[in-house]
Amino acid sequence: MATDLEIRCTACGRVSLARVEPVYQDFKKTGEMFACTSCGHRYPSRAETPFVAAAGRPQVFTEADKPKAAQVFAADERRHCCGWCRHFIVNPFNQRCGLSNREVEATDVCDRFSALEEDDKPADGADPLDALFKKKRPE
Ligand SMILES: [Zn+2]
Repeated sequence: MATDLEIRCTACGRVSLARVEPVYQDFKKTGEMFACTSCGHRYPSRAETPFVAAAGRPQVFTEADKPKAAQVFAADERRHCCGWCRHFIVNPFNQRCGLSNREVEATDVCDRFSALEEDDKPADGADPLDALFKKKRPE
């Protein structure tokens, strides 16, 4: 049966009961200490005592144990692939590089990468495939 004095002692690691010890200063009770009945470790205040009920569940993991997302690419390198390049052309059939006219994958990394800017979007009426088809059909 869980009582409100049940602790998971951080000193001995056992689930144990805390013994309440009044703290006196000049014969006046000034607070409470909690001691582990298994190992005798003392916690100086209620807030610092690892009560099981208060925690809800044992704090086995801390924030530091959370897995960090693997940083495969450096920040400035991350978008250095064709999918973020201004030369990247998507049509219903495949994806091409507007410079080489070769089929590329969005994840390809290219020496001629040039970051796509907001104002690179085609002007009104301009077909983004124009450049591609001019290269495709040289006259
Ligand atoms: Zn203990």
